[in-house]
Amino acid sequence: GPAPEADDNVRDWLKSHEAGFGHFIGGGFRPSRSGKTLVTHEPATGEKLAKIALGAAEDIDDAVAAAAKAQSSWEAAGGRQRARHIYALARMVQRHARLFAVLEALDNGKPIRETRDLDIPLVARHFYHHAGWAELQDSELADHQPLGVVGQIIPWNFPLLMLAWKVAPALALGNTVVLKPAESTPLTALLFAELAARAGLPAGVLNVVTGDGSTGSALVKHEGVQKIAFTGSTDVGRIIRAETAGSGKSLTLELGGKSPFIVFDDADMDGAIEGVVDAIWFNQGQVCCAGSRLLVHEGIHDRFIARLKERMDTLRVGHPLDKAIDMGAIIEKSQLDRIRTLVDKGVEEGAEAYTPDIGTPKKGFFYPPTLLTGVEPASTVATEEIFGPVMVAMSFRTPDEAVALANNSRYGLAASVWSENISLALDIAPQLKAGVVWVNATNLFDAAVGFGGYRESGYGREGGLEGAYEYLKPKAWAARKPRKPA
Ligand code: NAD
Repeated sequence: GPAPEADDNVRDWLKSHEAGFGHFIGGGFRPSRSGKTLVTHEPATGEKLAKIALGAAEDIDDAVAAAAKAQSSWEAAGGRQRARHIYALARMVQRHARLFAVLEALDNGKPIRETRDLDIPLVARHFYHHAGWAELQDSELADHQPLGVVGQIIPWNFPLLMLAWKVAPALALGNTVVLKPAESTPLTALLFAELAARAGLPAGVLNVVTGDGSTGSALVKHEGVQKIAFTGSTDVGRIIRAETAGSGKSLTLELGGKSPFIVFDDADMDGAIEGVVDAIWFNQGQVCCAGSRLLVHEGIHDRFIARLKERMDTLRVGHPLDKAIDMGAIIEKSQLDRIRTLVDKGVEEGAEAYTPDIGTPKKGFFYPPTLLTGVEPASTVATEEIFGPVMVAMSFRTPDEAVALANNSRYGLAASVWSENISLALDIAPQLKAGVVWVNATNLFDAAVGFGGYRESGYGREGGLEGAYEYLKPKAWAARKPRKPA
């Protein structure tokens, strides 16, 4: 294939940290108090990528103390002053966009085309948007106050973008942060912290403690934290909800999904086929709002599936730094095994599996684009989140049946409706139990629009005004009128 994107700068940066990365606490890097470390791997090769610090309760203590110390002056600085810092972070991301894009592709295994054109630009946009909220805070949100120190825990599928969704609103609105990135993808967060310090972000305002679930759990339980914002699996979300119950902490949860992709018989076929590619093969299907359940009108079902298989035959799976590929690597071996097990289960349950004969690299963790047809609505593959490049297809007869099938899920993150009949689409959209409905589109994200789930996809919103309120508490106040002097 074509020559991979040169990655010299990133390799140099990794080499300069060969001894291991520390936690970013109080404006500088330091190892874990225990001295314990973790090794991360490059999904595309399976080889060691970096050594990071494994944080425990005492490191979380240090980070929360640093955040608490910084919070009052960060709050007192006022919105205008904070906006300057947030704009500086946005420009810093743009200035180092290439470095971030290559590092993210290596660390996560996603295609450089996606990190370069989507992840990193969306990160910059998120900081710009929230710098705007900081500017407006003192006037438009003056009846609200920051929460204080917030703990944020993020997954591996969009490492820097999830950091942006969490850190930008929290800092903009006067909170300080302790962030725990995913154990498999901590590198762009560490680069972000290093560059943020250089861009003049005051010490202690943003702290990054690396580690695994136990590190996250220590953050959740810390008494000095006023809020936990979590993105990840529904199972861990449930644990965190139980652990914070009765603690007085605020909580937002962005969890899993099994979003429907509904194609009516009058849909623009070409558009809908490309929509499917974006819905389930973008980021190898490791997307919380992936359109992973294809519901097709029975009148076009066979034709649509045949066209989709033809399109699948043209997809390319390969090294993330190769600009000509459509799909990169799966995050890790355990996730690859989970996808295989679920697809086998689907076939056992009576579905037919299609994978194009396009080949995948032998080294590293790769899985081909896969389509399961003849899927029963109550089967495992139709109900469980696979979190991989696997689409399950079912058919429906009437719009009511489409709505019933679409809503037959414990999740409710997103939905996509394809029809040239706008009144049909507008009739269907409000009936779908999902935080966002896309019409003749998928995966549209904007910093100005609140994103979040219904049902077991979680609660709370990220982005826009709704997302801003998640980092503020309302303050009502009243004063008695002074009595008139006698
Ligand atoms: P995960 O729940 O295993 O891990 C997420 C984060 O939580 C990691 O940083 C992990 O170290 C930490 N963690 C694990 N156990 C913990 C515990 N007991 N206490 C505190 N923290 C703990 O999820 P994952 O496998 O990294 O990510 C995939 C999941 O994330 C999928 O289900 C996906 O749908 C979901 N997701 C949701 C959204 C959304 O916005 N709704 C976005 C991206 C991903």
